[in-house]
Amino acid sequence: MNPLMTHCPMCQALYERESVKLIAERKPVRLYHSMCASCSHGLLAYVIDAPGGISSVGLITDISGEDALRQADLLTISAEECIASHRLILEQSQDICRQLLDISGKLA
Ligand SMILES: [Zn+2]
Repeated sequence: MNPLMTHCPMCQALYERESVKLIAERKPVRLYHSMCASCSHGLLAYVIDAPGGISSVGLITDISGEDALRQADLLTISAEECIASHRLILEQSQDICRQLLDISGKLA
């Protein structure tokens, strides 16, 4: 199992080994999907092997493992999209978190 995917980012429950699946691999990128048995949130994680270490981007999702398998062939991400995503996450992380958590009205 990927050491980065040990627990659910939503409820912190530990993943069972069999709930984390390698969906696709196109070196140096691997796409994992996991489903949390506690809160039923899905997680798609792109794991990139880089010379300096492992990078990972996780997306909370409601798609199932089967859907992720079906979509794996469609999920082609270019280097430009990776860089754009990275910039977006860096520059707009607060907005992204607000939208993901839908708590914009509750933040101070
Ligand atoms: Zn969970």
